[in-house]
Amino acid sequence: MIQLFNIGKIYQNGAPALHDISLKIPDGDFVYVTGSSGAGKSTLLRLLYCAEKPSRGQILMGERNTTRLRGRNVSYLRRDIGFVFQDFKLLNSRTVLENVALPLQVQGLSRHEISTRVYQMLQYVGLEYKLQRKPLELSGGEQQRVAIARAMIVNPRLLLADEPTGNLDHELAVEIMEMFTRINETGTTVLIATHDKEMLELFPHRTVVLHAGNVVSDVTPDGVATAI
Ligand code: ADP
Ligand code: ADP
Repeated sequence: MIQLFNIGKIYQNGAPALHDISLKIPDGDFVYVTGSSGAGKSTLLRLLYCAEKPSRGQILMGERNTTRLRGRNVSYLRRDIGFVFQDFKLLNSRTVLENVALPLQVQGLSRHEISTRVYQMLQYVGLEYKLQRKPLELSGGEQQRVAIARAMIVNPRLLLADEPTGNLDHELAVEIMEMFTRINETGTTVLIATHDKEMLELFPHRTVVLHAGNVVSDVTPDGVATAI
């Protein structure tokens, strides 16, 4: 269970991003965070990834209070979290294989274990034939799949994705959403920031709507509002 208690976030420059957010996300849930541009979606994801610290409130992941983690403890936390960035953040000078291997190298695994796991993961996303290619030689949808493979290679308990279908055409967007569905079915909690209304309708899940840094609605597809 991930729990946010009265989270507020004001950036250094004084920009208020989140006002007062309380949320409970059970293990294995599939949750959309939606709302207009500037509502605070990306900020919420970055707080969960410990890329930003909240200005107030507390975040619990399981029994761990992750509100003010630093340094090595952030690296440990990220072993449990995969992040698919909006602009992919792939290293363009490295091959697909090297990009996906990176999080495992950081963990200091053996070369044999790394190559086995990377190959399996690339098979899973259907890119095992492109492992020696560089990101810029791939289509947008393929780059997105590399980004998902890199996020999933650590077997995270939580997968965060920021506008993962924003730049993809309909067919690729559906393909990527089906991939998130399969990942969720293996037990991984999935949290997606999106304003892709079509995907929200095609793949209905609990949807948290943010407006000006507050939760204004939180409902499951059967219409049940989640208690805040
Ligand atoms: P969304 O993802 O819903 O578009 P964001 O979380 O990116 O919303 O932004 C929420 C608010 O915080 C916006 O007003 C935005 O300008 C501000 N903001 C986001 N990131 C930063 C940052 N790194 N520094 C300062 N202000 C930021
Ligand atoms: P345990 O060591 O028994 O797993 P934790 O306190 O680490 O105890 O976790 C309790 C629950 O919270 C787990 O079932 C796990 O799924 C969830 N959890 C813990 N940390 C994370 C995390 N970083 N991301 C997602 N879920 C987490």
